[in-house]
Amino acid sequence: MEHETEVLVIGGGAVGICSAYYLRRQGRHVTVIEKNEICSGSSYGNAGLIVPSHSVPLAAPGMILKGIKWMFNPASPFYIKPRFDGELLAWLWRFRRACAVGCMHKAIPVIRDLSFASLQLWDQLAAMESLDFGYTQNGMLAVFKTPKGLEEGVAEARLMQSYGVDARVIEPAEIQALEQGLQTAALGGVYYPQDAHLDPQRFVSALARYIEKEGVNIHRSTEALGFETAGRKVTIVQTTRGAIAAANIVLATGAWSSVIARDLKIKLLLQPAKGYSVTFKRPSNCPVIPLGMAEARVVVTPMGDSMRLAGTLELAGLDLTINRRRVQAILDSVPDYLPDMDPRALDLIEIWRGLRPCTPDGLPLLGRSRNYDNLIVAAGHGMLGISLSPITGKLVSQLVANDTTAIDLTPFRPERFA
Ligand SMILES: Cc1cc2nc3c(=O)[nH]c(=O)nc-3n(C[C@H](O)[C@H](O)[C@H](O)COP(=O)(O)OP(=O)(O)OC[C@H]3O[C@@H](n4cnc5c(N)ncnc54)[C@H](O)[C@@H]3O)c2cc1C
Repeated sequence: MEHETEVLVIGGGAVGICSAYYLRRQGRHVTVIEKNEICSGSSYGNAGLIVPSHSVPLAAPGMILKGIKWMFNPASPFYIKPRFDGELLAWLWRFRRACAVGCMHKAIPVIRDLSFASLQLWDQLAAMESLDFGYTQNGMLAVFKTPKGLEEGVAEARLMQSYGVDARVIEPAEIQALEQGLQTAALGGVYYPQDAHLDPQRFVSALARYIEKEGVNIHRSTEALGFETAGRKVTIVQTTRGAIAAANIVLATGAWSSVIARDLKIKLLLQPAKGYSVTFKRPSNCPVIPLGMAEARVVVTPMGDSMRLAGTLELAGLDLTINRRRVQAILDSVPDYLPDMDPRALDLIEIWRGLRPCTPDGLPLLGRSRNYDNLIVAAGHGMLGISLSPITGKLVSQLVANDTTAIDLTPFRPERFA
């Protein structure tokens, strides 16, 4: 393939496909390359939550202590594979700094604004006739089974309220009423009514089909291998199927972005954070509102005819092996919260793992590269890449157009950790 395009998007996940969509809407000639299938990375099997309620970054006060405690328990929700890796050490160092109270309070409104801007775009996408991806805006419930967990959950709800996110602390009876009679062992919960959920794979695939019909070239099984540059421009992207010359390049390769960027001597501080999901045929007692089982850090999402459990965060590099102990820990947590649900009795559809592209401060890497005027980085969305994919795509299109962006991108400078 010898090819020329106006904008080349590298990566066919939620971020890449949304970027291609908004770019095409501007009338641009867009090409997407994806090394595997469209939506085969982290965007495939995640929990599908659209969550302005999750505006507190992972790096928050108390996380370091919690993380150290969890590290000694192989079934805990958080794990770091011990290894000597300079990038991991640099990431952990920055993460530790980002856990300061002041940093968290700086990050919350930034994430909140992105989330609410994205929520508006979700409404528009869900209203498109040609797209059906199970979008439902009926909120999210966080439920707690320990007094300490509940206390922390209520404190987080108050924090979110102080930042303008709707949150309602509720009693067990109200949890049962909201979940249409579902029995829980919760002591209490927090209801976040603005949240929504969807089937992420259906969304990305449907949008990819739509943009293809609208004239976007999508090349599957086409991997970006390296770059050629001239001065402040990236001129050529070398791929497994030949060279592509592009006036603008969007790097939307999720957890793989820092590795690819190395070829351009660009330092992106990203750690892949592995998580798992287990999808079952939807049982009759499936929650109707996504349910976060807070202490276990596991979420249950109703998804059409299926029900998905998702959780855990493991810093183990780009390793995609499935640790069955951690999958089992997700399953074992269910009856603690939902006494009438036994995962062993459910019909399994799929066990999946994916790599969240996590930055130490919890903010995406979004903007033009410092050294190359025609390279835009759109990566590092961590636990929020589905939530934030529409607004990211829109901002990418504004960058390509050299328009003033709808949101100030200063906090997202891709090379801010270099
Ligand atoms: C268990 C779990 C639960 C989650 N739950 C949620 C949730 O409820 N809500 C939410 O908002 N987020 C959630 N996330 C996070 C979310 O899945 C990610 O943030 C998001 O999918 C990132 O999208 P992306 O497009 O940047 O990356 P990806 O979907 O990983 O896409 C990147 C693509 O780039 C391709 N690629 C890589 N290298 C190359 C190359 N050299 N050439 C060509 N192509 C390449 C990959 O194959 C991949 O398809 C969850 C993640 C996990 C693991």
